[in-house]
Amino acid sequence: MLIDLHTHSSASDGTELAADVVRSAAQARLDVVALTDHDTYAGWPAAVDAALELGVGLVRGVEISCTHHGVSVHLLGYLVDPEHPELLAELDLARDSRETRVERMVAAMVADGIPITLEQVRALAGDGATLGRPHIADALVDSGIIGTRDEAFEDLLRNGSRYYASHYAPDPVRAVQLVRAAGGVPVMAHPFANGRGWTVGDEVIEAMARAGLAGLEARHRDHTPREQAHAVDLAAQLGLFTTGSSDYHGTGKQNVLGENTTDPEVLAEIEDQARSGTEVVRA
Ligand code: AMP
Ligand code: FE
Ligand code: FE
Ligand code: ZN
Repeated sequence: MLIDLHTHSSASDGTELAADVVRSAAQARLDVVALTDHDTYAGWPAAVDAALELGVGLVRGVEISCTHHGVSVHLLGYLVDPEHPELLAELDLARDSRETRVERMVAAMVADGIPITLEQVRALAGDGATLGRPHIADALVDSGIIGTRDEAFEDLLRNGSRYYASHYAPDPVRAVQLVRAAGGVPVMAHPFANGRGWTVGDEVIEAMARAGLAGLEARHRDHTPREQAHAVDLAAQLGLFTTGSSDYHGTGKQNVLGENTTDPEVLAEIEDQARSGTEVVRA
C-alpha cells in the first residue's frame, strides 16, 4: 500500500491541475493520495472525478497557513466538512490577505526596478488559485530574472528578504480547534522543517496536542534524520500518530510523489477519527 497524504495542485501553488495530480498519483502507483492545497478546497471536485475514473483513493484535505507569534506553521486538515462556516471564513480571510500581501511584495519589487507586474503574477497563478510566493517566483522566471522557483526562494523571496511581507493567518491552536469543529483530523505538516525559516518550539506543539492535534508529519524531505527522529519521539510522548508524505508541487518543487509514505493503519485511524461525513473516495 502506497499512501501519500500531502500534495498541491494549481488550486494553490502546485503546477498541475487537481485532476492531473491524481493522474500523476496513479502513474506513481500510489494507492491513496491526499490533495492538500494551501487554504482552499477548490481542487476537490476535479480530484474526486479523477480518483473515481482512475481508481486511486483520494483523501480530501487542506493545508492551513497558521502563524504563532510570527512563526509560520502549516496544519493539514483531513476530511473536513468543506461547508463548515467558521473554517471557511478563516480560509477566506487568509486567501484575501494573501492577495494584498502579494500586491505589497510585487510593488516593492517594481519600486526597485524588477520588471514584473501584478497582472503577470495573477495570470500565471490562474483564476481563483490561492496566491503565494511561488507565483511571484513564476513571474520572475517568466521575465527571465531567475531560472527556477528554488532560486527565487534562495534570494528575493526568502523569509528575511527586503521584499518579504507576511499575511494574516490564524494561530495553530485555533486552527486545530477549527479542523476538529469541522469534523476533520488535524496533522501538523513538516513540524521541524527550519531550512526556510523559524519553526515553533515543542511547547506550541504540546498546546496543539491539548487542543486536539492528531498527528505529526514526521517523514518529510525538509526534515533532517535528527528532526525526523525528534518528531517520532515527541509524537509518542504526546500520543500522536506520525505520517510521511511528499508535499508534491508538480514541477514547482523537486518533491516526488510517494517519496515518503504513511502506514495504512494511520490512514485507518484518520478515517476513524473523522466526523464530517467527508469520506475517503474509493472507486
Ligand atoms: P507563501 O505561503 O506564499 O509564504 O509561500 C510559501 C510556499 O512556497 C510554501 O508552501 C512552499 O510550497 C513554497 N516554497 C518554499 N520554498 C520553496 C522553494 N525553494 N522552491 C519552490 N517552492 C518553495
Ligand atoms: Fe506550497
Ligand atoms: Fe507546508
Ligand atoms: Zn504543502
